[in-house]
Amino acid sequence: MDNVVALTQELIRRPSVTPDDQGCQTLLRARLEACGFTVESLRFGAVDNLWARHGQQGPLVTFLGHTDVVPPGPLEAWTSPPFSPEIRDGVLYGRGAADMKGAVAAFTLALIAFVEKHPDHPGSVGLLLTSDEEGVAQDGTRRVMEILEGRGEHIDYCIVGEPSSCEQLGDTIKHGRRGSLTGILTVHGVQGHIAYPERCDNPIARALPALAELAASDWDQGNADFPATRLQFSNIHAGTGADNVIPSQLETVFNFRFAASVTADVLRRGVAAVLDRHGLRYDLTWRLSGQPFLTREGPLLEALTESIQAATGIRPQRSTAGGTSDGRFVAPFGSQVLEFGPLNGSIHKIDEGIPVADLPRLQTIYEDVLERLLVRQRPDL
Ligand SMILES: [Zn+2]
Repeated sequence: MDNVVALTQELIRRPSVTPDDQGCQTLLRARLEACGFTVESLRFGAVDNLWARHGQQGPLVTFLGHTDVVPPGPLEAWTSPPFSPEIRDGVLYGRGAADMKGAVAAFTLALIAFVEKHPDHPGSVGLLLTSDEEGVAQDGTRRVMEILEGRGEHIDYCIVGEPSSCEQLGDTIKHGRRGSLTGILTVHGVQGHIAYPERCDNPIARALPALAELAASDWDQGNADFPATRLQFSNIHAGTGADNVIPSQLETVFNFRFAASVTADVLRRGVAAVLDRHGLRYDLTWRLSGQPFLTREGPLLEALTESIQAATGIRPQRSTAGGTSDGRFVAPFGSQVLEFGPLNGSIHKIDEGIPVADLPRLQTIYEDVLERLLVRQRPDL
């Protein structure tokens, strides 16, 4: 099991800042091929993706992850260099240790161990990796999913190895994620001298009551799985810089993180209705960067919960908090999707790290899920 620590270190040594994979996937490909996986490397633009599968039948259980990392920030701020893995006081430090090279190493070795133990296992096991999860995410998991579904390779169960644990390994499973919808709004007016407002149309004065109403509105009531959907403004700008000019327009950007109980279309129409009611002249464009998803129950949630409890003694809680993940590209195809991985307290920070002891436990949990989903539920096999 020390293997998983060594493999995590090997991955950290490759400075794979998005989207440059730096050979991480080549390293994993060799290990997977050596134990009989069919492996494809799918490169789109500057993005490397890997799809590995063992078995021909359904159900298909897949681990999803990314080999890229966010930039380390100022090197002098790190206690040890970010791409030179170092263990201090039981913690393995390095960029990507928690997000998510530790989990990538753990589920790769879990897959290999599972296949070595059950060479003729029922169903199929798979691994999907991208080098562009932390970036724009256009040529990564999204593209690979289109290809897989296009040729009928349907993922039934998907575990994303994102760092979901908060205080202790195993305390939290992400069983869904909110959607993300961004609006870019320009409110038009008529520019002129501030001393002659009757000859102008002030877009600031016009827009403010509407923007205040948008910010104060509840867009749904929330439920047991999701907090209530709210609109948040991230940018606002108006004005020429001169203090005697009424500007011609006001520009603002806002975002919804929305629950699975509401749709992007409902939100778009709701915003337009408020702007129209306030009589604004405006242009509004939208960017939908992720649909919400939710896996409330089913064999995957049962198996993962049992595996975590068996390895850690902890009954995990369920959460939909946090940003988006690449699970958003898998769930729309009807897959059960859950996120489970190591502690997330240090991710994207200086001195990112993972407790060394959590790595073999993570591998055990991932392997045990495969056992529960594919082998133990079929005592006849
Ligand atoms: Zn991540």
